[in-house]
Amino acid sequence: MNFVRGLQCVCCGATYPARTAFTCPACGITGILDVKYDYPAIARHLTRRVLAQRPERSHWRYRELLPIRAGARVPDLAVGWTPLTPAKALARHVGVNTLYLKDDGRNPSASLKDRASSIGVVKAREKGLSIVACASTGNAASSLAGMAASFGLRSVIFVPERAPEPKITQLLIFGATVLRVRGGYEQAFQLCQQSCERWGWYNRNSGINPYLVEGKKTAGLEICEQLAWKPPDWVAVSVGDGCTVAGIWKGFREMKTLGLIARTPKMLGVQAAGAAPVTAAFLSGKELEPIEPETIADSIAVGVPRNWRKAIAAIRESGGAMINVTDDEILDAMRYTGRLAGVFAEPAAATAVAGIRRAAAEGVIPKRATALAMITGNGLKDTRSARTAVGDPCDIAPDGAGLEAILELRGLIER
Ligand SMILES: *Cc1c(COP(=O)(O)O)cnc(C)c1O
Repeated sequence: MNFVRGLQCVCCGATYPARTAFTCPACGITGILDVKYDYPAIARHLTRRVLAQRPERSHWRYRELLPIRAGARVPDLAVGWTPLTPAKALARHVGVNTLYLKDDGRNPSASLKDRASSIGVVKAREKGLSIVACASTGNAASSLAGMAASFGLRSVIFVPERAPEPKITQLLIFGATVLRVRGGYEQAFQLCQQSCERWGWYNRNSGINPYLVEGKKTAGLEICEQLAWKPPDWVAVSVGDGCTVAGIWKGFREMKTLGLIARTPKMLGVQAAGAAPVTAAFLSGKELEPIEPETIADSIAVGVPRNWRKAIAAIRESGGAMINVTDDEILDAMRYTGRLAGVFAEPAAATAVAGIRRAAAEGVIPKRATALAMITGNGLKDTRSARTAVGDPCDIAPDGAGLEAILELRGLIER
């Protein structure tokens, strides 16, 4: 059974059957579509007890709430159902009563993007396509390549000339055809669009593809179930294009609509100060003004976000807030999240933790609150900026000369 009832434009509100193009035919590229479901019918199927008995330890346990056919084949890789753990020492450090981390760096390709890509490859198969493509330097590409590999599809990835080496390596390992475009991201993006049109490949562009964001919402669904149907007061998510925060909010709203939770959390959207056009539009209430992004958090360095309307609407509806953090605060958060919780977050993921700390300091999040930070990607993907945060190891001679001095300095021994 498929519970999808159609698509609705977030701009003009028009509704369409589930098979229209990616964006609203009337509004064009700004007319992002939102997938609508038959919630009363889903509520009759999906109860707390039914969920508790499901064997899947992956996000496929929420099939009824996903835009895929009942019985559709899905990738074998385990996507989602990532660990949600309390972090006591970190809670004290950031200034809230209770803090949870949901570590989406534990997904197959080490980022939350696997939730979206896993839906993308199922939709590609549904259309009878065997080649998927995207233009990206980062997590969207590596996750698409990994999901394609797991699902028997081929992938073509367009990367700009300056794409970071570790991410290119990840693509090559997953067997993608990696096309390094002599140019910037915009040129890679255009080439990808044109190639998809010309050769009929499936285009993974989460900014405009309404189905991919449905995968991201499963993080919100999981938080409810993993916390025994008592979601935290605040959930912090870093914001680039805005699909992730909007998706996770949709998950919470659906859980409330289905009667599975009594109240929804407030969403804290966090941007890097050097790439914060969504925060600016949130605060001014005006149209978004594109900027030239400048931040170490590469996964959220977005100057022209495609999904800002959905993101702002989601945060407002939740009663939440938006906040910016500097690159120094992000590096600091990478350090203390590693030291106090044993979790290695990439810069765009540590941004969420830094956001909670600042929001608590400014009184946006009350000290007695329970908060959760989405760790959207693993730090091993970008060890260069991590090293900026933590510096170098202590070099030492093979005979151990100077060892005691170092240990004393570190407070590990007393002399
Ligand atoms: C993509 C991404 C984000 C932000 O998601 P948007 O949908 O672009 O707002 C945050 N963190 C990481 C690690 C990401 O890869």
